[in-house]
Amino acid sequence: MPSKIKLNQYIDQIYQRNILTNNGPLVQELTQRLKEKLGVKYLLLVNNGTTSLLLAYHIKNLVNKTIITTPYTFAATSTAIKWLGANVLFADIDNSHWNLSPESVEQKLATGKGDAIVPVNLFGVPCDLDAFEELKSKYNIPLIYDSAHALLSEYKGKNIYQYGDIHSISFHATKLFHCIEGGALIFNQEADYIKAKNLINFGIDELGDIHDAGINGKLSEFHAAMGLCVLDELDELVNERDYLVDYYKQKLGDLLQFQTTPFPCVSQPIYMPVQFATERLLCSVEEALKAQGVFARRYFLPQHYKFLELPELQGLEKCSDIANRVLCLPLFNGMTESQIDEIVTIIKDNI
Ligand SMILES: *Cc1c(COP(=O)(O)O)cnc(C)c1O
Repeated sequence: MPSKIKLNQYIDQIYQRNILTNNGPLVQELTQRLKEKLGVKYLLLVNNGTTSLLLAYHIKNLVNKTIITTPYTFAATSTAIKWLGANVLFADIDNSHWNLSPESVEQKLATGKGDAIVPVNLFGVPCDLDAFEELKSKYNIPLIYDSAHALLSEYKGKNIYQYGDIHSISFHATKLFHCIEGGALIFNQEADYIKAKNLINFGIDELGDIHDAGINGKLSEFHAAMGLCVLDELDELVNERDYLVDYYKQKLGDLLQFQTTPFPCVSQPIYMPVQFATERLLCSVEEALKAQGVFARRYFLPQHYKFLELPELQGLEKCSDIANRVLCLPLFNGMTESQIDEIVTIIKDNI
């Protein structure tokens, strides 16, 4: 939660202006500040990260098409594909960084399957962006990133937003930067940006004509006010969490495994995922933590995604193996070193 005093000042402004939504001044201010912070040209705020995924898929004309994505992600990446009326085709993930494997994607594409690729920069760690860029040009298909976890991530010293056609981001309250509910789309082509701008306002264009059936994807002034307050504190929040992640890693040593990449990158300290040798060990540690009032979370278990049909989950050996062995340890601003020490002791005593 950001400064309440500051939030109240923004709310006073909203009351003075009586402008509550429809691309108001606070939405414009937040858009401008995020564009500068992220170093991007075309950014559009929307009302949540799921709307932003739907818009990205719609803009790339993927209705009735087949979208290749990762099973190891929050369900929204795929529920949005189904909701749009497109088909989900999973490729497997990579052993070391747990993101969608470009080799596995190419195996599908080479047999003529797949009309678009949707990799996820999972837990704030970027995918192999160069490899997907190559696939995009080789097969001439859209490349959309679900960057919900990766607002500030970097790849090989570069901005992740230079890659792909569209990035979808979530500003939900559980993410590192948030507007309570909110999200954004970042585009590399101006035409896509203009389409999206009309689509979030029912499809109404600058002349008042409606060519395409749009949706209501607008962010309100109240949500933008929250975002502006959080943004002021973001660097400090990230620094603190980076410190906590380093501290965890130092204390855990080689007891457990972490996400690693063969390329240099900057990841975002949004979660603290660790990989156990077996699911049984994970469960015993999870139980022991719970008994001490510490709640770790097994984010993203694809076998619980019952909206998917079975064939979609078949032949994904690495995903079935890894997703079952990853636990996210507590990570929050205000966490102390001694709280981490306590957690690490419980882990050590139970594996
Ligand atoms: C949170 C999240 C979403 C959905 O965003 P909302 O703003 O909650 O709708 C989509 N994809 C991933 C990977 C997420 O973590």
